[in-house]
Amino acid sequence: MSRVYNFSAGPSMLPEEVLKTCAAEMLEFGTTGQSVMEMSHRSKEYQAIFDETEATLRQLMNIPDEYAVLFLQGGASSQFAMLPLNLMNKNKKADFVVTGQWAKKAYQEAARYGEAKVIASSADKTFSYIPKLDKSTFTPDADYFHICMNNTIYGTKWHTLPETGNVPLVADISSCMLSEPIDVKKFGVLYGGAQKNVAPAGLTIVIIRKDLLGNAMDITPTMFNYVTHSENGSMFNTPPCYTIYVAGLVMKWIRDTMGGLENMKKYNEEKAKILYDFLDNSKLFKGTVVPEDRSLMNVPFITGSDELDAEFVAASKKAGFVNLKGHRSVGGMRASIYNAMPIEGVRKLVDFMNEFEKEKK
Ligand SMILES: *Cc1c(COP(=O)(O)O)cnc(C)c1O
Repeated sequence: MSRVYNFSAGPSMLPEEVLKTCAAEMLEFGTTGQSVMEMSHRSKEYQAIFDETEATLRQLMNIPDEYAVLFLQGGASSQFAMLPLNLMNKNKKADFVVTGQWAKKAYQEAARYGEAKVIASSADKTFSYIPKLDKSTFTPDADYFHICMNNTIYGTKWHTLPETGNVPLVADISSCMLSEPIDVKKFGVLYGGAQKNVAPAGLTIVIIRKDLLGNAMDITPTMFNYVTHSENGSMFNTPPCYTIYVAGLVMKWIRDTMGGLENMKKYNEEKAKILYDFLDNSKLFKGTVVPEDRSLMNVPFITGSDELDAEFVAASKKAGFVNLKGHRSVGGMRASIYNAMPIEGVRKLVDFMNEFEKEKK
């Protein structure tokens, strides 16, 4: 067996330790005589797995009791509609900062249901920075204020949060969930697809302040009403059982092997620094994001020549570094270095880039 270093933006690498546990428990979980894949979601054995996953998430992220944790499906993309359907029903207004494709999609979907306003955008420079905000432009009676915390495609991250006062701040944390501590109390809703940093595809995690529940528009489909899921312990219908189990294993890996989110952040900073330091000193490669807004998770870079980019992507793949091609909308390269990417993977990638650069001189 030879495993590659997988720099995919998602679905992405899972910790090897977790995959080994999955393999060991594949045919029989504990003494249940069955795989987690085969369990009834209504069984007490499965409920225990589910409850432990939620408890571990609450513990890791320090989620206060005033917040509900929902395990849903439909991806972060479904949340772009669920958010306005559930929240945009008091004043029918919401504010958005457009920092990339995902943020734009959240805005466009909300605009179908109410008055959605773009407060700022970084589209003018291919989303290579986080725009500075002017508070006087915020809608004072907005039902929520939406940001995309880590912009997976463009590699930017909000390092300082907008101050929205009484307007609930809502953040898409798909690509930075569990990569570092987050002060949950600052948010009305945090949500994300789990396939970037937490689990295989199929699970969407929503953390919502309970006072925001129960205000959905009449047209809201039952499955799109948060209350449906909060009142049924995320088991109104069959949840993505196996993915929730793997998410639980990943959470325990972060807690027990990596030492919690503070340490996870330090490790992620160390990894990102290796790559950014190399890019800042390279004569061939360069990062595309302004230094102060750089993501710890997604690192886009270019050579400046489409042919060289393609040559690099092909050569890196041969050498066992896969999925380094940039998003189809931006080109170039992108290294996604989520929690499960070991530091050796980043070191070896940088060595490889260094060799490639020398050959091109
Ligand atoms: C991947 C991603 C999405 C889309 O997630 P799906 O689960 O595929 O719907 C949305 N927002 C961000 C920030 C992402 O990285």
